[in-house]
Amino acid sequence: MNAKQLLTVGSVAFDAIETPFGKSDKIIGGAGTYISWAASFFNRNQGLISVVGEDFPMDELELMQRNGVDITGIQIPKGGKTFFWSGRYHNDMNSRHTLLTELNVLGEFEPVVPEKFKLAPFLMLGNLSPEVQRSVVEQMATRPLLIAMDTMNFWMDIALDALHNTIEIVDVMILNEEEARQLTKEYSLWKAAKTIQSMGPKTVIIKKGEHGALLFHEHRIFSAPALPLEEVFDPTGAGDCFAGGFMGYISSSNEITYEVLKNAVIAGSAVASFCVEKFGTQRLREIAPQDIHQRMKEFYQLSQFEILDYGTN
Ligand code: AMP
Repeated sequence: MNAKQLLTVGSVAFDAIETPFGKSDKIIGGAGTYISWAASFFNRNQGLISVVGEDFPMDELELMQRNGVDITGIQIPKGGKTFFWSGRYHNDMNSRHTLLTELNVLGEFEPVVPEKFKLAPFLMLGNLSPEVQRSVVEQMATRPLLIAMDTMNFWMDIALDALHNTIEIVDVMILNEEEARQLTKEYSLWKAAKTIQSMGPKTVIIKKGEHGALLFHEHRIFSAPALPLEEVFDPTGAGDCFAGGFMGYISSSNEITYEVLKNAVIAGSAVASFCVEKFGTQRLREIAPQDIHQRMKEFYQLSQFEILDYGTN
């Protein structure tokens, strides 16, 4: 694999999750964790910038290293406690309710980009405060080839101006449909994407949960299907896996063309489809790059068809 360096900033966390199918204990989670895991199926030349407490298991960080994720940028403040998040899904699994957010070490987090990552050509800004996201971009020695960001409605509610200041410096904005509507006040996803493009990013990806994703690139649109799955056990991390798979795929490609972006959307969708099959990161620990490749083929077969002659000629 000849992948170029991919740098991610994102939370590394303990999560506790309740779904209609069961309840997890405190398990490993965090947007940065999911992004790095997902990207590692395509790229083992990664760096992760984050913060954990002294209570975070070292073997998890070592496992990340073995997955090709350099953890030099993960701070471990003395006596600190790891960020903790817990959430509950309802029957349709589309709506999630946050039960508890304990920021702990994430509350004081000031990311520091180590020298060896300052020239990274690919940068993924996981869902964190827009100031933290921007500070990572500002610490880079050269402007990365591609910067993507994720966000959530929480930042639109409490830090809208700062969010705009970050959106205007990125190339790819990844968000879900409710967030796109809230950010732009447009119901039509087409109009919402155009409005976000006018804020800065040339490429906008709107995720529609179990209904797939839309890629808006300059004036073109690509619709990625969602694979109907037999098992949907826990949607936590699906959005981050999408982003990680997307950036992992692009950073391992030779160039960034529209075709590569389309494939990257399918790569992200494929990783996300595995992620939801079990609690937390469990399913990601069981699969290999060939499983992702096989699933990308299933995505292809799902929506590929030929228009047959039907008596018009
Ligand atoms: P997703 O399901 O893709 O939205 O991401 C879920 C992950 O986001 C969980 O593993 C949480 O630990 C993490 N998370 C939840 N809230 C926050 C937050 N305010 N800041 C950073 N990470 C968060």
